Amino acid sequence: MSERVRQLIGDSFTESQTDQWLPVTDPCTQEVIAEVPLCTEAEVERAVATAAAAFESWRETPVGERARLMLRYQALLKEQHESLAEGLSRETGKTLEDAKGDVWRGIEVVEHAANIASLSMGETLENIARDVDCYTLTQPLGVCAGITPFNFPAMIPLWMFPMAIACGNTFILKPSEQDPLTPVRLAELFLEAGAPPGILQVVHGQARCVDQLLTHPLIPALSFVGSVKVAEHVYRTGTQHLKRVQAFAGAKNHLVIMPDAQPNQVINALAGASVGAAGQRCMAISVAVFVGEARQLIPRVQEALAAVKPGHWSDSASGFGPLINPQAKARVLELIESGKSEGAVCRLDGSHCDVADYPKGNWVGPTFFTGVTPHMRLYQEEIFGPVLAGMEVDTLDEAIDLINRNPYGNGTSLFTASGAAAHEFQKRIQVGQVGINIPVPVPLPMFSFTGWRKSFYGDQHAYGKQAVRFYTETKTVTARWFRDDIDRGVNTSIQLR
Ligand code: NAD
Repeated sequence: MSERVRQLIGDSFTESQTDQWLPVTDPCTQEVIAEVPLCTEAEVERAVATAAAAFESWRETPVGERARLMLRYQALLKEQHESLAEGLSRETGKTLEDAKGDVWRGIEVVEHAANIASLSMGETLENIARDVDCYTLTQPLGVCAGITPFNFPAMIPLWMFPMAIACGNTFILKPSEQDPLTPVRLAELFLEAGAPPGILQVVHGQARCVDQLLTHPLIPALSFVGSVKVAEHVYRTGTQHLKRVQAFAGAKNHLVIMPDAQPNQVINALAGASVGAAGQRCMAISVAVFVGEARQLIPRVQEALAAVKPGHWSDSASGFGPLINPQAKARVLELIESGKSEGAVCRLDGSHCDVADYPKGNWVGPTFFTGVTPHMRLYQEEIFGPVLAGMEVDTLDEAIDLINRNPYGNGTSLFTASGAAAHEFQKRIQVGQVGINIPVPVPLPMFSFTGWRKSFYGDQHAYGKQAVRFYTETKTVTARWFRDDIDRGVNTSIQLR
């Protein structure tokens, strides 16, 4: 019998009492590697009650102690980096290098959370009136919740619970049901690092479980990362229940190539950013916009994409892994067909892709279209597969207009040797993360990671340093200090004028 994924409810990991279990499958073989429960309503209720009770003491825990928990956790994650990455590859099919990157980006956030003391300092102003001082306090909210997607099972849970908990909150994590083993391992390591009982709870489920969290009166704030349809539902329902919500959603990221761009740089960057991780990154480049003479690079881009081979995660020659499940593969194949029937030129077709020894894997090979136009489904929809859509325009202005009209605004990138073009682009482009000669501009936690239009809903204080603003309330205290009190010896060290 395959492993049963445990829940963290109360003080320890236990098996759910539910009678509903879903298979967790290896996307290279379809072998069932574990079963994940759909936790019962009572179990989720108990998780919330536990986190609410734990909040009472955790909020009183000195900030240095909270920071030291993060330091111990960071050290343990670094120690376990390789084994975490291997487990992550097994359940997602990501190449080992990619999996290590997934874990590492999470470790960086934990490292950042260890700075919680300086991150959450307030402001003070003396003498706003005679004997009156004013200052802010930064205080935790209570029980926060996080719902995460399949594509970064280490990094995205680690975007959320370490920052929230470092701020003094307690947290309920509902990881993706498609790859829950890595998030559960992260929670085990958190307890091993010395996290007090109850401050982190892990529940499993799908829409019903998420809705229970979204409408729960004891949860004031909720973070979500996932597809746009679900993000919109989460944002609507959460805010309708008067919660603070941040919802990172889907993407359609353009890389613009100016005629003066350095060709080798562009080609290497495009190949990695478009089909790397099988295109299953919210910051993957899915549209290449060739400006003017840059269109001459099209045959070389095609050649570079054709050279990237999908394969098993343990094979160091693999350029990327399979799609997460057969439904995702079917969706990508359908979008490839739509591109062909809507008149785009399919220069490289990965629809029929085999990988030796893994005939059942959800493989799709690198796929490259040119002649794509804005009305095509290939352009309108997020594909989330190793498919690059090529478009041609005559000027940088046209490229900027195209990107600003796209429904999504997560990431974008410009390759050019011109400082003036780069300056114009970064000023006028309406997208959350912008790369100049950088294909996948994912910021470190000292900066925000957000998104424009359909790529992000809610509170822009989303990630890293800014997340402290999401996971806390600030309180402004205006205090009059009576001289009489001081005279009575409340603070004898002060010498009155
Ligand atoms: P998904 O929306 O299917 O699932 C995300 C989470 O929502 C999962 O935990 C899932 O169980 C839950 N969920 C699914 N259906 C639900 C419903 N009807 N009601 C309530 N909850 C539901 O997303 P996914 O396929 O796991 O992840 C891929 C998507 O995530 C892509 O669209 C990608 O662009 C996006 N993503 C965005 C970012 C970002 O930073 N903007 C980062 C990573 C992934």
